[in-house]
Amino acid sequence: MMRYKSVIFDVDSTLSGIEGIDWLAALRGPEMQAWSSSLTERAMKGELPIEAVYEERMNKVRPSAREIEALGREYVARIATGAKKALAELRGSGIAFVMVSGGLREAIIPLAREVGVPEEAVHAVSVYFDGKGDYAGFESTSLMTRQEGKRITVGKMSLSTPTLAVGDGMTDSEMKSVVTNFAAFTGFTRRQPVIERADFVVETFEQLTDLILR
Ligand SMILES: [Mg+2]
Repeated sequence: MMRYKSVIFDVDSTLSGIEGIDWLAALRGPEMQAWSSSLTERAMKGELPIEAVYEERMNKVRPSAREIEALGREYVARIATGAKKALAELRGSGIAFVMVSGGLREAIIPLAREVGVPEEAVHAVSVYFDGKGDYAGFESTSLMTRQEGKRITVGKMSLSTPTLAVGDGMTDSEMKSVVTNFAAFTGFTRRQPVIERADFVVETFEQLTDLILR
């Protein structure tokens, strides 16, 4: 039995075990890493709105094109255990996927390819470079830089229902009002406020597959 026709995935700490912007910040040294990950954690718990920290972090980290390529490889290397197999099985059952992320689109595309999600189904924040490949800004108008961005974006999509959203953060749980169900993914992090809002809690992609198909 197929319980959902569309599944909406978060990326960082859900499909892959990294927080992309924190990984980039770590390239600038341990102090920047600690600063960035404390902001990420507070935003994911709902203590800080994402938009308050997005620009500040990007202006400090200023990732180059080469660093974004390296991050793309890291997303693939750190893919969640069982995710590739699970998505292949789900896709084989005719389920449609969407990826929604406050992360950087150009770094996420290689992971989308790896799990068979088409580029047009990837909703994230673009990063820009100059002719030398140096950082030249990001898509600050993207809804994905905002606290309600995932909810608004998914709410406008005409997805086949029932729909399931899966993620580890507060911006994921905010999709609950526009999807049939929300599952908290705890394979990498367990965030209590997110778990409390969830219809289901799944720790592995095997559990997720069972929830969707069996
Ligand atoms: Mg996440």
